Amino acid sequence: MAAKTHCEALDRILREADSTFREAREVRRTKDLSFYEDGELTRGEHKKIDNLVKHLLAGHEGKPCPAGDRPIVGEPKRVELLRKKASA
Ligand SMILES: [Zn+2]
Repeated sequence: MAAKTHCEALDRILREADSTFREAREVRRTKDLSFYEDGELTRGEHKKIDNLVKHLLAGHEGKPCPAGDRPIVGEPKRVELLRKKASA
């Protein structure tokens, strides 16, 4: 798999998210969590996902991350083309 563009920030965010999820999984496996404790863990995980999505959508001075593996936001030209198709 060849990466088209490399993004340090995206790498870091993915690494952080990965370790957060690993840790949460480990804690859930080894401890009997209270409802509250589990909510705290979940909140931590959601925060990492928020960071990731935020970076992918607008992490580069308001523009989408070029290193994202999926085109979350289409190019303006493409949108235009799709609109034309839809109205034809
Ligand atoms: Zn990026």
